[in-house]
Amino acid sequence: MTTIRLVIFGRQGAGKGTQCAHLVEQYGVAHISTGDMLRAAATAGTELGLQAKEIMDAGGLVSDEIMIGIVIERLAQDDASTAGFVLDGFPRTVAQAEALVEGLGDDGLDAAIELDVPLDEVRSRMMSRGRDDDTPEAIQKRLDLYDAQTQPVIDWFDANGSLVRVDGFGGEAEVWARLSAAVDAAVAAQSAS
Ligand code: AMP
Repeated sequence: MTTIRLVIFGRQGAGKGTQCAHLVEQYGVAHISTGDMLRAAATAGTELGLQAKEIMDAGGLVSDEIMIGIVIERLAQDDASTAGFVLDGFPRTVAQAEALVEGLGDDGLDAAIELDVPLDEVRSRMMSRGRDDDTPEAIQKRLDLYDAQTQPVIDWFDANGSLVRVDGFGGEAEVWARLSAAVDAAVAAQSAS
């Protein structure tokens, strides 16, 4: 069985959640969302969860040390180590990216995918969701944070050779066709190397 190891990046409103569900269905990978893990810990009221909640509410980042520990432990679980994974929300910093690549060792990643959607399009998608926290100011703040925090990590993968940019503009099926073709190509390239 092929083990598929992916990281996915995309702005809020880029359709990352929807496309991750397709990845899980098609490849049987574990969807590992660090945001979901932290929110679950907050709901459960663990010490880590309560600390993380404060940081999340303030718009900050949980420390690299904690995040790397959580993710490396999660990747060692049976589902992720057998079928593989798609990491969503991690790495958020270059230090996390380096720790991930080091932790995976020779197996490495098949691809770091950037689901690329034009800014105007993600803005209008977020506005049309009508969520309470989707005010123009809040949307702009999240977009700015992505540029400040996530873009350098994408650039790091680009410089290290494993970035695959997928055009995320279009309907769900159209984007999925592009994404699955990109994953198949990355997996084929990885097993040939
Ligand atoms: P997300 O759902 O991915 O937007 O994550 C929600 C919040 O969880 C973020 O705003 C951060 O506060 C925290 N978080 C999630 N993933 C990470 C990470 N890899 N490093 C640091 N903080 C994170």
